Amino acid sequence: MRGEELVVNEALKVRALPEGSYDKLLEFLRLYRDAVQIVVDRIWGIDEKLSWKKLHRLFYSDLMRLGLRAHHAKEIYVNAKSLMESAKGNSGRKPVLRKLSARIDKYDYKLDLDNMVLTLKLHNNYEVKLRLVTPRERVEKFRSWSNYELVVKYEDGEFWVSIYFKRIVKSLKPRTVIAIDLNFGNVTLAIYTPDGRRVRLKKLKTPHKKILTHKIWVERIQKKYPKSWRFIKGVRRAIEKHGERIKNISWDYAHKTGNTTAKLAFRHHSVIILEDLEKLRENNKKRDKEFNKKLGLWFYRRIQFCIEYEAMERNLQVAKIDPRGTSSKCPRCGGRLVEDGYRVLRCRKCGFIGDRDVTATINIYKKYISKHSRCGVPGVAPNAPKPDENPSGMQGNRDEAMTTSNHMNLYES
Ligand SMILES: [Zn+2]
Repeated sequence: MRGEELVVNEALKVRALPEGSYDKLLEFLRLYRDAVQIVVDRIWGIDEKLSWKKLHRLFYSDLMRLGLRAHHAKEIYVNAKSLMESAKGNSGRKPVLRKLSARIDKYDYKLDLDNMVLTLKLHNNYEVKLRLVTPRERVEKFRSWSNYELVVKYEDGEFWVSIYFKRIVKSLKPRTVIAIDLNFGNVTLAIYTPDGRRVRLKKLKTPHKKILTHKIWVERIQKKYPKSWRFIKGVRRAIEKHGERIKNISWDYAHKTGNTTAKLAFRHHSVIILEDLEKLRENNKKRDKEFNKKLGLWFYRRIQFCIEYEAMERNLQVAKIDPRGTSSKCPRCGGRLVEDGYRVLRCRKCGFIGDRDVTATINIYKKYISKHSRCGVPGVAPNAPKPDENPSGMQGNRDEAMTTSNHMNLYES
């Protein structure tokens, strides 16, 4: 669980107007295109793997003789090589370049965002200044980013520049794991330390009953007007209204859950563990009988989307695990769990008893830790709760129980 550096890349494409004559820039773009073509032609028949060093040896002095700069040359080989590789992979025909487009390394341009001016270094020591034609607000966010490369293009009589920006995001080094179980009735968040102690537990009741009520209304109306509902304005309007409510309730819930999760994860320096919903669909279609029929994956996807979004905003890590067995295996001995009363599971082999949702979080946590224990965190198996532990899973402090019930009220009133 090391803190990671993430690199975020983004390109800004803007129109650019050369100051003065276009001639030198056009001449450069043609020279660049022709140079790429020469390299493509010459390496087309070579089957051996061409290293960067070898390309340099083959082409550097020729490209210098054309008046190009050292970094132009480098971009040209790299460009030619990748063109050749993708052509061989696709059509198998040697590419013939027509478009005027050049990739330019950071050593060969100067970007002045204050004055919205880009200076390019061209062949034979020519320089050209281009004015960037775009609202300043579009550029504003990139001021704190670094830029490392750009592409200049000539299309239909206009010059366009795509500037590649990057920003390094340092994600926090996680100290705990927050395991999230989504099911029909609840979203359960449980925070575990690397040695398997549970330090926080929170259940958020899903608004499924409210959503279902609206769905039932829609079905009732459609049944009453089986053919005409689409065409009677009042009826269609009523259906749309219920649809809107479903949309609002589910997004509202997803946003709040995303926010609650990310806040908790931030406070406890947690890596967030979600079940991989794609795998869930593949392996276990009837994990929850109501699951597909009534609410469907869309609702879970929406919740996960919001959790991931809020996590990204706070530079938190998110990982996904295969959900196979998380709600049916005993976290202590691996035996099969059976129902033992309302939302309680019991292991026939070892006697483990646990709340269904909390048990799922233990399994989710264990799956993650067994894969990631090599990253400097002792991968000790979690202490499964003792059989006599309160099976409701609500053994958090009083505050926590309060916030949980407040949260429920939000959706039930
Ligand atoms: Zn067991």
